[in-house]
Amino acid sequence: MAMTDPGPDGRFGEFGGRFVPETLMPAVQELEKAFRGAWADPEFRAELDHMLTHYAGRPSPLTDCRRISEELGLRLLLKREDLNHTGSHKINNVLGQALLARRMGKTRLLAETGAGQHGVATATAAAYFGMDCVVYMGEVDIERQALNVFRMKLLGAEVRTAMSGSRTLKDAINEAMRDWVATVEESHYCLGSVMGPHPYPWMVREFHRVLGDEARRQCSELLDGGVPDVVTACVGGGSNAAGIFAGFADSTAELVGVEPAGGAAVGRGVPGVVHGSNSYLMQDEYGQVKEAESISAGLDYPGIGPEHAYLAAEGRARYESVTDAEVIEAFQLLSRTEGIIPALEPAHALAWVSRERAALAGKTVLLNLSGRGDKDATQMMEVLS
Ligand SMILES: *Cc1c(COP(=O)(O)O)cnc(C)c1O
Repeated sequence: MAMTDPGPDGRFGEFGGRFVPETLMPAVQELEKAFRGAWADPEFRAELDHMLTHYAGRPSPLTDCRRISEELGLRLLLKREDLNHTGSHKINNVLGQALLARRMGKTRLLAETGAGQHGVATATAAAYFGMDCVVYMGEVDIERQALNVFRMKLLGAEVRTAMSGSRTLKDAINEAMRDWVATVEESHYCLGSVMGPHPYPWMVREFHRVLGDEARRQCSELLDGGVPDVVTACVGGGSNAAGIFAGFADSTAELVGVEPAGGAAVGRGVPGVVHGSNSYLMQDEYGQVKEAESISAGLDYPGIGPEHAYLAAEGRARYESVTDAEVIEAFQLLSRTEGIIPALEPAHALAWVSRERAALAGKTVLLNLSGRGDKDATQMMEVLS
């Protein structure tokens, strides 16, 4: 059945696995063992639940949208991850990993970040637990995301510049992994999406499952025990989509992930190994990982988590892409009709719903609103003026 635990080798069908250098193997094995123990421990689960409730603000509401539904000719339900502390779904994963790191006796959190959102979330969790925090960020991204760099520093984190390669997210991941190998005694690498070597894709999905389980209960209440016809979410690495899909994988709901046209790893990518697991990624003709390009910095990861590659191959989920122009329109549409300014990432999912409105007529569509749009307001002010 879809979205249960991967095998002991971390495989989802032919995807996933653990392709790491010898020096990293003990660290990922120790992490897997610790996660298995923690996840089976009711005390760990209760402590995480307590933090999610009293610090992160869970459960997030489900909003039954009236005006946009009328405009599109369907029924749109939004899972409101934008209302979480720090403004997105990312807090679910970082609180889980930080609590696990503490249980493992670690005192230092490492993270990579592209647009800065995962770095900010990790720095937040580190501050909450009183842990040291080092965030790796490409030189190019540091220049583009000055406000998030400031936020991380304010939260007590050290931001280190990744100078190798294209000086963006994929280079930051490489440097964070290098740091981890050298400091594994005291450090935990807090990876930001459902990617990387086993156990990360599985573990990160499990930490986000809370949002899918909540949405399942909320939909059941609203729809007299029923489920939506379609469940959709944007896909960068794929963590928010994995969280909401996990709540509906065993149901009749159709699952649709939406990627940016300039980063469509499932649509235009090829199978290959990157950052420790086997999945789809964008490559050039020489097999080099290609830069993804998108209006939304949070989605410009050139790969996709291995479980999504598996769900696509099995036909349990499908993956569509939308253009920047469609995203800009969706961003304005939700703001104007519902009074909710979405982050540009989930605006991708809405752009797909809006484009496919004829095919979706009369259906109930659950969309994971993964984050709020405050962080994108300045960029959109320039785009729209
Ligand atoms: C980081 C981010 C994403 C992309 O990450 P996934 O792992 O694909 O979920 C999507 N939405 C928001 C609001 C984000 O901050």
